[in-house]
Amino acid sequence: MSRAAVLSLHTSPLVLPGRGDAGGMNVYVRELVSALAQTGIDATVFVRRNSDAPTVVDVEPGFRVVHVAAGAAGLSKESLPGVVEDFADGVGAWLQEHPVDVLHANYWLSGVAGHRLKHELDLPLVSTFHTLARVKAETGDPEPQRRIDAEAEVIGCSDVITANSVTELQQLSELYGADPKRIDVVAPGVDGAVFSVGSRRGARAALGLEDGPVLLFVGRIQPLKGLDVAVETLAGLRRRYGGAQLLVVGGASGPDGERELLRLDRAVRRHRLQGRVVLVPPQPHHLLSTYYRAADVCLVPSRSESFGLVALEAAACGVPVVAADVGGLRTLVDHGRSGFRISERDPARYTEAVLAILDDPSLASSMARRGAEAAVRYSWTATAARLRRIFADLSARVPLDCTV
Ligand code: UDP
Repeated sequence: MSRAAVLSLHTSPLVLPGRGDAGGMNVYVRELVSALAQTGIDATVFVRRNSDAPTVVDVEPGFRVVHVAAGAAGLSKESLPGVVEDFADGVGAWLQEHPVDVLHANYWLSGVAGHRLKHELDLPLVSTFHTLARVKAETGDPEPQRRIDAEAEVIGCSDVITANSVTELQQLSELYGADPKRIDVVAPGVDGAVFSVGSRRGARAALGLEDGPVLLFVGRIQPLKGLDVAVETLAGLRRRYGGAQLLVVGGASGPDGERELLRLDRAVRRHRLQGRVVLVPPQPHHLLSTYYRAADVCLVPSRSESFGLVALEAAACGVPVVAADVGGLRTLVDHGRSGFRISERDPARYTEAVLAILDDPSLASSMARRGAEAAVRYSWTATAARLRRIFADLSARVPLDCTV
């Protein structure tokens, strides 16, 4: 099995992550497909055309992006269910001319298109959801019933579902009744050539940062990501570390993103933290290592997180992580050893954990070391090798058929 169609309807691996709909999935698709190409799998990534980009962009040998016309440019993510059929038509027409051996759908919208195409083209379907509506609903981010039903249908007919973490595997089977035999845990990776331990002093000088503790938040700004908790955590440090700063790298995302920025602004004023919370616009992925290296602690207070690439990238750069005890963060943050996992959404608990790290340099450096050692286990090459094996196993099987 050597040719794959990777469906990524709503967001392109060519787009800068960190704002709007571009985040971990963009990094995942780009890094995974690049690593697959290096193993000899020829992969075409299909995205919805959202700009005047050429139809085909050759990224590297064995990795191209095809832009498929489906709805107007600039449609919100909430409107995209209405263009899934057009997208599937476009991908199907392309695949008639350029056949592949397997479909890999990312996120539920692509899953719906992939499900239709698997029946039309008699192909196996591998699905990776990245987030699940029922998980989000449990933590206060409800999604339309239509999405839940669609996810259940795609889960029921995927030949393999890849879960980003063991927690996601459990969620797939407990919340959706997915057959555990068809779920494989395939952890995403981190590029160790970019995200590695480096000089904190050098990084701070490069960023022009003042002395004093630096907390870091990286990612899309939306309620789910818990930036409010990060600001409250910083406020809690005031008595002992009045000069502490919070760097926030990322931009607004989703229908509540702008409102979340306003809330952030209000919280900063309420706590008189002007100048102590520094907003940095989204940065190209490879430049982020400087931000991680400059930090004493990386905060990941998300309400849910199927994996949590930011936590892994921070650990790879030797930065202790204080994170919510949810999803993939349960695997990535070794509580008490590479950081702390906090089970309540209580900023006071986050502040306590950050203080434990700032007050104890030997704990901080052992956490940094252990995090970096653990991060070495994750690489995109390993993720691609796992997926390649899944593709190869599927070539020996008849694709599942939910219609019989
Ligand atoms: N990211 C980036 N530039 C930014 C902000 C974020 O490249 O300015 C990347 C970050 O390095 C990580 C991804 O966006 O790889 C976010 O992934 P994560 O799994 O943490 O969250 P998601 O976006 O999937 O919810």
